Amino acid sequence: MEYVKSKIRDINDFPQKGIVFKDLTTAFKDPKALKEIGRALADLYRDKGVTKVVGIESRGFIGGSILAYEIGAGFVPARKPGKLPAETISATFEKEYGEDTIEIHRDAIEEDDIVVIHDDVLATGGTMHAAYDLVKSMNPRKIYINFISEIPFLHGRENLPEGVEVTSLISF
Ligand code: AMP
Repeated sequence: MEYVKSKIRDINDFPQKGIVFKDLTTAFKDPKALKEIGRALADLYRDKGVTKVVGIESRGFIGGSILAYEIGAGFVPARKPGKLPAETISATFEKEYGEDTIEIHRDAIEEDDIVVIHDDVLATGGTMHAAYDLVKSMNPRKIYINFISEIPFLHGRENLPEGVEVTSLISF
Protein backbone atom coordinates (compact mmCIF):
# COMPACT_ATOMS: atom_id res chain seq x y z
CA MET A 1 0.00 0.00 0.00
CA GLU A 2 3.01 2.34 0.22
CA TYR A 3 2.80 2.84 -3.54
CA VAL A 4 -0.89 3.79 -3.37
CA LYS A 5 -0.22 6.08 -0.41
CA SER A 6 2.51 7.86 -2.36
CA LYS A 7 -0.04 8.63 -5.08
CA ILE A 8 -2.55 10.33 -2.75
CA ARG A 9 -1.98 14.07 -2.60
CA ASP A 10 -2.74 16.63 0.11
CA ILE A 11 -4.65 19.76 -0.88
CA ASN A 12 -4.41 22.45 1.80
CA ASP A 13 -7.42 24.62 2.65
CA PHE A 14 -9.91 22.66 0.52
CA PRO A 15 -12.90 22.88 0.55
CA GLN A 16 -12.32 25.47 3.26
CA LYS A 17 -9.47 27.00 5.27
CA GLY A 18 -7.80 24.67 7.77
CA ILE A 19 -8.83 21.40 6.07
CA VAL A 20 -6.11 19.21 4.56
CA PHE A 21 -8.01 17.38 1.82
CA LYS A 22 -6.81 13.88 0.94
CA ASP A 23 -7.16 13.81 -2.83
CA LEU A 24 -7.45 10.22 -4.06
CA THR A 25 -8.03 11.18 -7.70
CA THR A 26 -4.26 11.03 -8.18
CA ALA A 27 -4.28 7.40 -7.00
CA PHE A 28 -7.37 6.51 -9.06
CA LYS A 29 -5.79 7.87 -12.24
CA ASP A 30 -2.67 5.74 -11.76
CA PRO A 31 -3.30 2.30 -13.31
CA LYS A 32 -0.99 0.44 -10.91
CA ALA A 33 -2.44 2.16 -7.83
CA LEU A 34 -6.03 1.57 -9.00
CA LYS A 35 -5.33 -2.11 -9.55
CA GLU A 36 -3.66 -2.40 -6.15
CA ILE A 37 -6.65 -0.73 -4.45
CA GLY A 38 -9.09 -3.08 -6.19
CA ARG A 39 -7.09 -6.18 -5.32
CA ALA A 40 -6.61 -5.17 -1.67
CA LEU A 41 -10.30 -4.33 -1.19
CA ALA A 42 -11.36 -7.62 -2.76
CA ASP A 43 -8.88 -9.58 -0.61
CA LEU A 44 -10.56 -8.17 2.53
CA TYR A 45 -14.09 -9.29 1.57
CA ARG A 46 -13.77 -12.15 -0.91
CA ASP A 47 -14.67 -14.89 1.58
CA LYS A 48 -17.36 -13.10 3.59
CA GLY A 49 -20.43 -13.86 1.51
CA VAL A 50 -20.99 -10.19 0.68
CA THR A 51 -24.02 -9.64 -1.59
CA LYS A 52 -24.11 -5.81 -1.81
CA VAL A 53 -21.59 -2.98 -1.64
CA VAL A 54 -23.01 0.43 -0.74
CA GLY A 55 -20.80 3.26 -2.06
CA ILE A 56 -21.10 6.78 -0.65
CA GLU A 57 -21.32 9.65 -3.18
CA SER A 58 -19.20 10.45 -4.87
CA ARG A 59 -15.72 9.12 -4.35
CA GLY A 60 -17.11 6.02 -2.64
CA PHE A 61 -18.64 5.05 -5.99
CA ILE A 62 -15.21 4.35 -7.46
CA GLY A 63 -13.71 1.90 -4.96
CA GLY A 64 -17.18 0.57 -4.13
CA SER A 65 -17.92 -0.40 -7.73
CA ILE A 66 -14.54 -2.04 -8.16
CA LEU A 67 -14.97 -3.99 -4.92
CA ALA A 68 -18.49 -5.13 -5.87
CA TYR A 69 -17.35 -6.24 -9.33
CA GLU A 70 -14.30 -8.09 -7.98
CA ILE A 71 -16.21 -10.10 -5.37
CA GLY A 72 -19.34 -10.70 -7.45
CA ALA A 73 -21.64 -8.49 -5.34
CA GLY A 74 -24.17 -5.86 -6.42
CA PHE A 75 -23.57 -2.11 -6.08
CA VAL A 76 -25.89 0.36 -4.31
CA PRO A 77 -25.32 4.14 -4.36
CA ALA A 78 -25.87 6.28 -1.24
CA ARG A 79 -26.43 9.74 -2.73
CA LYS A 80 -26.87 13.41 -1.98
CA PRO A 81 -30.49 14.60 -1.62
CA GLY A 82 -32.72 14.66 -4.68
CA LYS A 83 -30.50 12.52 -6.92
CA LEU A 84 -32.13 9.10 -6.58
CA PRO A 85 -35.26 8.61 -8.72
CA ALA A 86 -37.32 6.12 -6.68
CA GLU A 87 -38.56 6.23 -3.08
CA THR A 88 -35.72 6.96 -0.62
CA ILE A 89 -34.89 7.04 3.07
CA SER A 90 -32.52 9.76 4.30
CA ALA A 91 -30.28 10.79 7.21
CA THR A 92 -28.73 14.16 8.11
CA PHE A 93 -25.40 14.39 9.92
CA GLU A 94 -22.42 16.60 10.91
CA LYS A 95 -19.14 16.32 9.04
CA GLU A 96 -15.62 17.74 9.25
CA TYR A 97 -16.80 20.79 7.33
CA GLY A 98 -20.53 21.39 7.80
CA GLU A 99 -23.79 19.44 7.70
CA ASP A 100 -24.98 17.04 5.04
CA THR A 101 -27.74 14.59 4.11
CA ILE A 102 -27.54 11.24 2.33
CA GLU A 103 -30.23 9.10 0.78
CA ILE A 104 -30.59 5.52 -0.31
CA HIS A 105 -33.38 3.76 -2.20
CA ARG A 106 -35.87 2.22 0.21
CA ASP A 107 -35.74 -1.10 -1.66
CA ALA A 108 -31.94 -1.21 -2.08
CA ILE A 109 -31.19 -3.77 0.65
CA GLU A 110 -32.98 -7.05 1.48
CA GLU A 111 -33.02 -8.88 4.80
CA ASP A 112 -30.79 -11.68 3.51
CA ASP A 113 -28.09 -9.30 2.26
CA ILE A 114 -24.57 -9.12 3.66
CA VAL A 115 -23.43 -5.56 3.07
CA VAL A 116 -20.14 -3.66 2.90
CA ILE A 117 -20.53 0.11 3.14
CA HIS A 118 -17.58 1.78 1.43
CA ASP A 119 -16.13 5.30 1.23
CA ASP A 120 -12.76 6.70 0.18
CA VAL A 121 -11.81 8.58 3.36
CA LEU A 122 -12.77 8.21 7.04
CA ALA A 123 -12.58 11.70 8.56
CA THR A 124 -14.95 12.31 11.51
CA GLY A 125 -17.10 9.28 10.71
CA GLY A 126 -20.36 11.25 10.49
CA THR A 127 -21.04 10.32 6.89
CA MET A 128 -20.43 6.63 7.45
CA HIS A 129 -22.51 6.53 10.61
CA ALA A 130 -25.46 8.04 8.74
CA ALA A 131 -25.02 5.53 5.91
CA TYR A 132 -24.83 2.72 8.45
CA ASP A 133 -28.09 3.86 10.09
CA LEU A 134 -29.84 3.85 6.72
CA VAL A 135 -28.58 0.38 5.79
CA LYS A 136 -29.28 -0.98 9.29
CA SER A 137 -32.90 0.22 9.09
CA MET A 138 -33.38 -2.21 6.20
CA ASN A 139 -32.32 -5.12 8.46
CA PRO A 140 -29.64 -6.96 6.47
CA ARG A 141 -27.97 -10.08 7.91
CA LYS A 142 -24.64 -8.32 8.44
CA ILE A 143 -22.96 -4.98 7.79
CA TYR A 144 -19.23 -4.31 7.32
CA ILE A 145 -17.64 -0.87 7.04
CA ASN A 146 -14.68 -0.15 4.77
CA PHE A 147 -12.54 2.81 3.66
CA ILE A 148 -9.59 3.11 1.34
CA SER A 149 -7.97 5.49 3.85
CA GLU A 150 -8.46 7.03 7.28
CA ILE A 151 -7.27 10.15 9.11
CA PRO A 152 -6.68 8.82 12.67
CA PHE A 153 -6.30 12.17 14.44
CA LEU A 154 -9.94 12.96 13.71
CA HIS A 155 -10.92 9.85 15.74
CA GLY A 156 -13.57 8.83 13.23
CA ARG A 157 -13.54 5.21 14.40
CA GLU A 158 -14.87 6.35 17.78
CA ASN A 159 -17.93 7.77 16.03
CA LEU A 160 -18.75 4.55 14.20
CA PRO A 161 -21.26 2.04 15.60
CA GLU A 162 -19.87 -0.40 18.16
CA GLY A 163 -19.35 -4.05 17.30
CA VAL A 164 -19.03 -3.47 13.54
CA GLU A 165 -15.89 -4.65 11.76
CA VAL A 166 -14.17 -1.59 10.25
CA THR A 167 -11.27 -1.87 7.79
CA SER A 168 -9.13 0.58 5.83
CA LEU A 169 -6.15 0.09 3.55
CA ILE A 170 -4.19 3.22 4.45
CA SER A 171 -3.71 5.32 7.59
CA PHE A 172 -2.32 8.86 7.29
P1 AMP B 1 -16.64 12.40 7.63
O1 AMP B 1 -18.12 12.31 7.68
O2 AMP B 1 -16.10 13.56 8.41
O3 AMP B 1 -15.95 11.10 8.00
O4 AMP B 1 -16.25 12.76 6.15
C1 AMP B 1 -16.12 11.79 5.25
C2 AMP B 1 -16.56 12.23 3.90
O5 AMP B 1 -16.10 13.52 3.54
C3 AMP B 1 -15.99 11.30 2.91
O6 AMP B 1 -16.92 11.13 1.87
C4 AMP B 1 -14.74 11.97 2.45
O7 AMP B 1 -14.57 11.76 1.08
C5 AMP B 1 -14.95 13.43 2.74
N1 AMP B 1 -13.85 14.04 3.51
C6 AMP B 1 -13.95 14.61 4.73
N2 AMP B 1 -12.79 15.11 5.14
C7 AMP B 1 -11.91 14.85 4.19
C8 AMP B 1 -10.52 15.09 4.00
N3 AMP B 1 -9.78 15.74 4.92
N4 AMP B 1 -9.95 14.66 2.88
C9 AMP B 1 -10.68 14.00 1.95
N5 AMP B 1 -11.98 13.75 2.04
C10 AMP B 1 -12.60 14.16 3.14
